[in-house]
Order: sequence, then structure tokens, then C-alpha cells
Amino acid sequence: MESQVFYRKWRPQTLAEVAGQEHVTQTLLNALSSGHISHAYLFCGPRGTGKTSTGRILSKAVNCTSNGKGEPCNTCEMCTAITEGRAMDVIEIDAASNRGIDEIRNLRERVNYAPGKARYKIYIIDEFHMLTKEASNALLKTLEEPPSCVIFILATTEAHKVLPTIMSRCQRFDFRRISQNDIAEKLNQICDSEGIKIEREALNVLAKNSTGSLRDAENLLEKLSTHYGSDINLNQVRDMLGITGNERIKELVEHIVNANITGGIKTINAINSDGFDLKQLNRELIAYLRGLLLLKTGYSNDLDFTPEETVVLAELADKSTVEQILKAI
Ligand SMILES: [Zn+2]
Repeated sequence: MESQVFYRKWRPQTLAEVAGQEHVTQTLLNALSSGHISHAYLFCGPRGTGKTSTGRILSKAVNCTSNGKGEPCNTCEMCTAITEGRAMDVIEIDAASNRGIDEIRNLRERVNYAPGKARYKIYIIDEFHMLTKEASNALLKTLEEPPSCVIFILATTEAHKVLPTIMSRCQRFDFRRISQNDIAEKLNQICDSEGIKIEREALNVLAKNSTGSLRDAENLLEKLSTHYGSDINLNQVRDMLGITGNERIKELVEHIVNANITGGIKTINAINSDGFDLKQLNRELIAYLRGLLLLKTGYSNDLDFTPEETVVLAELADKSTVEQILKAI
């Protein structure tokens, strides 16, 4: 079990702090300032992209006693209680471990009681798709006529498993994988505050390998700093991740572009004898070639590479043909 100290410590506390989901947070801010609060929200998207954190911030925003029309103040008694997880009116249910209909029945019995201290009683149901069909149907009854002071926030990584009848009663928001740059930016802030010195390239590699999940990236950074202390370099990151490194991949792609078979085999042998996982090499190579293909065909906006990497990629794109890249993939 990972300790997740960084993840908890650096959890966003305002909508503005939620990384890479501006399309969600801006809409929520507009709704908050105009007072158009929905009674049921469905947050869909990959793990570690901020769904539950956004749910908690929203709980604070609607219940904040000093603002209540925008971002939470994070200092009033209500905000503090929610942040510390001791607010009686904000109930978090993990559907992955509470699949049974009993929990929802219990919820249905209690849902009609007015909130204690808060303006709104909030139910945050995580991994919502894991609820049994019976439990989902029971919840549906409540969603059909939600009490005016209750807000449901349903979070799921698998939107297609949510009943259409539930979906249609919720305001849906789709959380995106967080871009490499946004993750690197956030990790950089954490390193600054924690007094960790890390090479920029090492940060980029870390961000790239967390596949859009900020939580994974923060956990990796924590693992690195526990293991190596406050000075982290590229090789340490590669060692921990068991990855090959972009220069090796770049070298291999250069050999492919130049049709240099001997050079290509030499590079692969060197990577193998250094003890790197060849399946991982394959994944990295395909990702790199995909980037090259996108750049070659003019889709430069969709590239999730750092500016430094894009320069190298552009040089390779100039030297190669689309047919060559497709064949290599
Ligand atoms: Zn407050």
C-alpha cells in the first residue's frame, strides 16, 4: 500500500487548483456564482484526474458560510470540517467496497432528514458503476425526486456501465487525462515547496510515465524522494520506472529512418543487456513513432511532448516518410 503523503498533502482545495480540467471547473464556477446548483452530478473519467477532489471542493463551495457563491473560503468552520473529513453532512461512499443494496437503502432512509449544520447534505459515491443493479435502481428512486437540500456527486471511471436512466438525471462532466505539461508543472511546484531538486528532463519522464494520472505522478515522486532523498536525477527516475529513456528510443528511430539494420540491432542489444524490459521498450517505441506520425501529418497540436522533445521529433519527421513510419509501427 502506497503512503500517498504527497497526494493527500497536495490535494487541490479550490476549483482553480484542479489541474487540467478547466472545462469542468469553469462551468462549475459559473453555476456556483449564478446559484444554478444541480442535484445530481456525474463525474466521469480516468483514475487520478481529480473527480473526487472536485466533488469535495464542490461540497465546500455550496456549504461555505463565508462565501457560498464561488470558490470555498477554506477557512470557515464548514470548509475546515469538510477538508478534514469530519463534516456529518458530507457522506462519502466507496461503491467498490459497498456494493450492497443495504447501503443505498440506508441512504434512502436518511436522505430525507434535513442536513444538520450544512446548507446541503452531499453524497459522494465513488466508483459508482460498481453498485449492484438493485442498488442503482434504489438510488434512481431518490434521484427522480431528490430532496431540495441534497446533492449527489457520482464519480466513475466507467461511464458506459452507468444506467441510462441515472445518466439522464445527472449533469455529466467528463474529466480528461491530464497533459504531460500540466503534470510536470504541478510536480515542479511540489518539488519547490518540498525542497526537492530534480532535473527538468527527469520531471518530464516522470510526467510522461504517469499516463495522465496526477495521483500516480505524485505517488511516484514521493517514492523517488523517499528512496533517493532531495536530489533526483534522470537515471534514478529511469531506474525506478524500469524505462529505456528517450535517447535510446530516438537512436533506434534514427536507425529505422536511415534503414540502418546493424545500428538498430546494436541499439536493441544494448538496451536488452542493460536489463531493460523489452515490452516496455516496445510501448515507448510505438508511442514515439505515433508522435512522429502525428507531427509528420501536421497534427502538432495533439502532441503530448515537451518543447525540447518536439524539436528532436521535428528533425526526425523531416528525414522520414509517412510510409516508413507506418511500416515501423
Ligand atoms: Zn468556507
